[in-house]
Amino acid sequence: MKVNLHTHTHSCRHGSGNIADYMVWAEREKFDVLGFSEHVPLPGGLLGTTRIKMENLSCFWKEFDEAVGNYPQIKLLRAFEGEYIPELMNFQKELKEIWDLDYMISSNHYIWENGNKVQFPSQSDPAALKVIVEQSIKLIESGLGIFFAHPDLFFAYGCPWTPDSKAASRDIIEAAKAHRLPLEINAYGIRKQPITAADGKVRKRYPIPEFWELAAEIGGIEVVCSSDAHTPSALWRAVPEIIEWAEKLGFTVVNERLAKEILTR
Ligand SMILES: [Zn+2]
Ligand SMILES: [Zn+2]
Repeated sequence: MKVNLHTHTHSCRHGSGNIADYMVWAEREKFDVLGFSEHVPLPGGLLGTTRIKMENLSCFWKEFDEAVGNYPQIKLLRAFEGEYIPELMNFQKELKEIWDLDYMISSNHYIWENGNKVQFPSQSDPAALKVIVEQSIKLIESGLGIFFAHPDLFFAYGCPWTPDSKAASRDIIEAAKAHRLPLEINAYGIRKQPITAADGKVRKRYPIPEFWELAAEIGGIEVVCSSDAHTPSALWRAVPEIIEWAEKLGFTVVNERLAKEILTR
């Protein structure tokens, strides 16, 4: 089965294409299951420039229902990409019920300090890494999502692979393993421009090979390979490569299993 569980549209305000535009590509690429997972709308317009507006949700899901009718051969799933924000975990779980979602994705895009967001570090900063580990573990324990998206995103702003960032990675991987939560290898980072990390290495923002090699070494980790498309033509771009890489590292790729679990609920 060809399954992508992580997809954004123009409604997230940093992507392009509506659901109908995506369906043209989904049909062309012979998808079996496609999950639309906009960044979860938050109260008071929090992080408002990067997510769907609360008042646009009815319209968005109407567009979704039209696609369900127009493409009966492709199973479409309703989702949100959730956000680790300490005060808003229950709010997000309630939204899942209100909008009758098939699933949510657990994501951590920022460090949160006293209600304010802080960008992930550009250095291997032990204090920042400590908070990232704490947040990641709380997110895993929250049970919000069916997988943890881009758990290595905290390397995206230049943090190099060091004993400290390796230890942080290990703690996150071990927590996911203990809670049997699949980790996502995210192809969006491959499609983005490379960066020069603090150690001078030019590399992809994510996925971070050392992170995934460590996860493979620890063992017992299941992975989801997602596009995290923000434009229709990227729906499957760079995903075959990461699936091949994941399998080479010895991971079980569970896209299909998760989709089947959702569809039989
Ligand atoms: Zn994300
Ligand atoms: Zn995303």
